[in-house]
Amino acid sequence: MDKNLRLSFEFFPPKSDNGREKLIEVRNQLSLYKPEFFSVTYGAGGSTRDNTKGIVKEFNESGFSTAPHLSFGGDTEEDVAALIEEYKNAGVNRIVALRGDMPSGMGGAHQMVYANELVAFIRERFGDHFQLEVAAYPEVHPEAESYDADIKYLKQKLDAGANSAITQYFFNPDAYFYFVDQCQAAGITQPIYPGIMPVTNYTKLARFSDSCGAEIPRWIRKKLQSYGDDVFSIKSFGIDLITDLCEMLIDNGAPGLHFYTMNQIEPTATILSNLGVKPE
Ligand code: FAD
Repeated sequence: MDKNLRLSFEFFPPKSDNGREKLIEVRNQLSLYKPEFFSVTYGAGGSTRDNTKGIVKEFNESGFSTAPHLSFGGDTEEDVAALIEEYKNAGVNRIVALRGDMPSGMGGAHQMVYANELVAFIRERFGDHFQLEVAAYPEVHPEAESYDADIKYLKQKLDAGANSAITQYFFNPDAYFYFVDQCQAAGITQPIYPGIMPVTNYTKLARFSDSCGAEIPRWIRKKLQSYGDDVFSIKSFGIDLITDLCEMLIDNGAPGLHFYTMNQIEPTATILSNLGVKPE
């Protein structure tokens, strides 16, 4: 794999001390693949604020560039500014800026702040201190008015000052390349990094994909269903599938890969080895 390709690894904040210890080991192992950064998700409505902040600060202070995911949730501008200031003081120089979702049951209680507004807010308050990533949806965000409107709003986030975008995961490389073409035709010049979801469990993947609007092609569903509880076969099929996807993406010009690691070393490490990226 080309040394210039950008790698990044996403984690979610563990709730327990045990989970935290394990994540440090995962981070240490994955850092050998020389990622540009790690990122840590933010629970819907800011529900993981302290856990996300704790991990992000600790990782940055230990010398691992780590970006918090951030959304307004139900917070005030001053609360959000104070959190970002704390990140800045801890050496954080990158943020994944999102609208996010509200926890179920709270949907109607708050006005959601679109990601372009968060990007503009960070630029206004913190200038160019942070590298800002935003989310993109090759298979269209579930609430989007239309395919083109979703691209229009992505452009709005990038025009507000975001540096690049990371996509929702997908299994069909054509969806990504068509999307990138359409974004470029709409005047987007910033890089769009594909989000990569390793496949290890069919039931969870199917449930999550339905809710976030990521399509599992029929042949992949059928194949995964046919393995039933045979975890070994699911994992081995998943590794081949995602290795092939990454190869197609890289061969056709994707600028890097962002892995949704699910806080696990495997199968991300094996996929990278298959791609010729060796731990150093
Ligand atoms: P936006 O870009 O604000 O878009 C949301 C929707 O509104 C889209 O349908 C868009 O077309 C539309 N829209 C945008 N702007 C406007 C406007 N001005 N007027 C009208 N419509 C508009 N979720 C979490 O809870 N925590 C995380 O840590 C997290 N990390 C993620 C990381 C990545 C890389 C990705 C791809 C997604 C992540 N998500 C996360 C999921 C994300 O929060 C949801 O998909 C959420 O519903 C949308 O967030 P957004 O930032 O893409 O929203």
